[in-house]
Amino acid sequence: MADSSNLARRGLMFILSSPSGAGKTTIARKLLAEVDGIGMSVSVTTRAPRPGEVDGKDYVFVDQPTFDRMVEDGEFLEWAVVFGNSYGTPKAEVKQGLKDGQDFLFDIDWQGTQQLYQRMEVDVVRVFILPPSIGALESRLRSRGTDSEDVIQGRMDRARAEISHWDGYDYVVVNDDIDRCFEQVHHVLQAERLRRARQTGLVDFTRKLMG
Ligand code: 5GP
Repeated sequence: MADSSNLARRGLMFILSSPSGAGKTTIARKLLAEVDGIGMSVSVTTRAPRPGEVDGKDYVFVDQPTFDRMVEDGEFLEWAVVFGNSYGTPKAEVKQGLKDGQDFLFDIDWQGTQQLYQRMEVDVVRVFILPPSIGALESRLRSRGTDSEDVIQGRMDRARAEISHWDGYDYVVVNDDIDRCFEQVHHVLQAERLRRARQTGLVDFTRKLMG
């Protein structure tokens, strides 16, 4: 017996964007840990690794000439300059994975989201996470460490700029409770997996059902 979860299907590109401090990283980690069939798309970046970041896992860290060559060779599905550093999504693994029914999670900004949507519209699901208030966002950014007031204000400015792109997304979830926010994001993923156009196994399956 088949149910719709084991019919052949094309994978999807699940994009999570948010201003930093809105809980996106926690949601992404939970999705990867608790949901089968979805893996992270690991981006390439020219920014220096932060303490604890692992090359090949958090990002692939490269220098600018290498990044530029990858752009020229057409190795990226999209790329953008974010806060002065270059970031790009490698093409090869994602394209093959989608064919094999693998879903990919993307932690990319609004510019990358627009590019992916223009190139691969039917595969893309765009989810934006908002903080419940600007005060909540600020206190989360402050609780992260001992950053100077200037650094905090810089992050708040960038957060406001990121929030202004909310209307370029298919789904918007307000994160006033991390568990509920996760549930809602998970439901979006489950529903999107059932889209008829993604379920490539339906033609055979329904043919058999009809005899
Ligand atoms: P961070 O340096 O803090 O890890 O990321 C900075 C910003 O770059 C975040 O908004 C993140 O979503 C975005 N970003 C990370 N990887 C990519 C990518 O491959 N493409 C694009 N367009 N943005 C990315």
